[in-house]
Amino acid sequence: MNGILYLVATPIGNLEDITLRGINVLKNVDIIAAEDTRHTLKLLNHLNISKPLISYYKENENVKTEILIKKLLDGENIALVSDAGTPGISDPGEEIVKEAIKNNIKIVPIPGACAAINAVIGSGFSTKEFLFVGFLPNNKKEKKEKLRELKEINKTIILYEAPHRLNKTLEDLKDSFGDVEVSIAREITKIHEEFIREKISKIMENNVNTKGEFVIVINNNMEIKHTKIQEILNNLSLEEHYEYYKKQNYEKKEIIKLIAKDRNKNKNEIYQYFLKAE
Ligand code: SAM
Repeated sequence: MNGILYLVATPIGNLEDITLRGINVLKNVDIIAAEDTRHTLKLLNHLNISKPLISYYKENENVKTEILIKKLLDGENIALVSDAGTPGISDPGEEIVKEAIKNNIKIVPIPGACAAINAVIGSGFSTKEFLFVGFLPNNKKEKKEKLRELKEINKTIILYEAPHRLNKTLEDLKDSFGDVEVSIAREITKIHEEFIREKISKIMENNVNTKGEFVIVINNNMEIKHTKIQEILNNLSLEEHYEYYKKQNYEKKEIIKLIAKDRNKNKNEIYQYFLKAE
């Protein structure tokens, strides 16, 4: 009989955030596949659990998936854990789950901590519908494209971000979304846990503490946002309004159309204005 693949959520800071079921599964499986075995060993020592560990991280995912699937087909039960939180959420997991399904191996998720979920429930923004994005692309052009795409999504948006990129990302968010409200969840479940809920400009003014781990939640719910953005854009000069869209990589023709729409004007009128100004 095939073994079972357990996807066990582990704490994202506070070691008490592991469930009784999670502990029992870790105690009873044959092998634990861990993103960083040294990191997981600390958790296992804390829980007094001793188990064979296999490293399973992004760069060795292909090879290790094959090895683990073989073991599962041989009847061994395996728990997959990441360094923190829920496996498969901006962490390795997706690939082995796909392979396990192909091989008729049972998958059992063991729920627990996830930074995204805790950041959104503490944000104060709509939790009716939200979009989890995870990390934005590192590449400048791809990041800009992604932000342009996200701006059109009328939902609460959740991003993961590394501390050294936080300030730059806030700047990019402001360029793309306008001065929207965001909630920055810092060090969730840890001693210095805090939620900063402000407009981006205010957060930037106050020099956010960039020590620790962060989730950025964006209030991109249009019913609130639309009127605010409209108000801001219509108070700009036409040149500034033009620059606003140019920064988002729009073509001249598109920009004129957008400005006309924002200001409830005929697009020819806007076109003529810029023609004269050239
Ligand atoms: N699988 C994890 C989960 O379920 O949340 C996420 C792993 S991802 C590689 C790491 C990112 O999650 C960090 O860069 C940060 O954005 C976020 N994160 C993890 N722990 C956090 C914490 N305690 N407080 C705030 N953000 C956290």
